[in-house]
Amino acid sequence: MMAIDLRSDTVTKPSDGMRNAMVKADVGDDVYGEDPTINQLEEAAADLLQMESALFCASGTQSNLLALLCHCKRGEEYIVGQQAHTYQYEGGGAAALGSIHPQPLNFEHDGTLDLDKVLNLIKPDDFHFPQTRLLCLENTRGGRVLPISYLDSARKFVDTNNLNMHLDGARIFNAAVDLNIHASKISHYFDSVSFCLSKGLGAPVGSILCGTTDVIKKARRWRKTLGGGMRQAGLLAAAGLYALENNIERLSEDHANAKLLADGLNEIKQLNIRSDDVNTNIIFLELDNVNQEELRTYLKSKGILIQGRNKIRLVTHLDISKKDIAITLKAFKNFFN
Ligand SMILES: *Cc1c(COP(=O)(O)O)cnc(C)c1O
Repeated sequence: MMAIDLRSDTVTKPSDGMRNAMVKADVGDDVYGEDPTINQLEEAAADLLQMESALFCASGTQSNLLALLCHCKRGEEYIVGQQAHTYQYEGGGAAALGSIHPQPLNFEHDGTLDLDKVLNLIKPDDFHFPQTRLLCLENTRGGRVLPISYLDSARKFVDTNNLNMHLDGARIFNAAVDLNIHASKISHYFDSVSFCLSKGLGAPVGSILCGTTDVIKKARRWRKTLGGGMRQAGLLAAAGLYALENNIERLSEDHANAKLLADGLNEIKQLNIRSDDVNTNIIFLELDNVNQEELRTYLKSKGILIQGRNKIRLVTHLDISKKDIAITLKAFKNFFN
């Protein structure tokens, strides 16, 4: 029996169509710039986000790190969410490898960073302080989509304050599909954007960093420094191309499945999911008076995998069908009865 794996959208496996595209990929040495499939993917990604240039990276951790290294030098500062992936879940790479000083602050409940609070954290031009160079946002943030009006204000804010702005857009296409807009309507506010091919888009490996020609040229140099110069990686890029061509629009199915799951779970009287805790393909579930270990073990015995500590996170993706949602709801209901 195939598990119904709701732990993350990173667990997706390449489809037959994607595997076929990988097998047939035309390849070359990408360190020489000679892998046609990687070149094609980078052009397609830059075109999609309407940015000048793009770079194929091993992971989102790497593409975010490259962006930070391009925008900030040793001893300079970036402002970032306290709970941001870039700050908390990327091994402290900016500090460990770039000597970049982080200035974290709490995300607001809607996933934004309050620009008045950010303003107070920008350091004056005084040699006591690190120089603030960059504001880093996340979209989607915990599955939550940032309003376009906020992105517009943030762009004006960074322009006024002489900062660059990077987007950790690991799930930028979930945001775009939710808003029913082209992803370039999000990316165009930023100096650089990183997104993942290996989550809801279903590729086995890879992320893309998009930005100006100048940023991407620097990022290519840093990627080599970090040991990320890959050779015939067109085999991987072919999966990425397939994902961009076939798996963006279908993200709406994942969002519909998440909504279906949330509505069903809300029928269980012990559970109360706030509607603003259901966003795109991620649901957060607070379980106060429930033995979570028992729940996890019970669901596992039914072939359903979940993860989380105080808050359970349920993530829908292209290997979760509507039928899987029905099976999951039945198992939850049995457990709570
Ligand atoms: C998954 C993710 C990343 C990148 O993670 P990798 O596992 O390194 O690809 C970055 N930001 C966010 C918000 C993510 O969810």
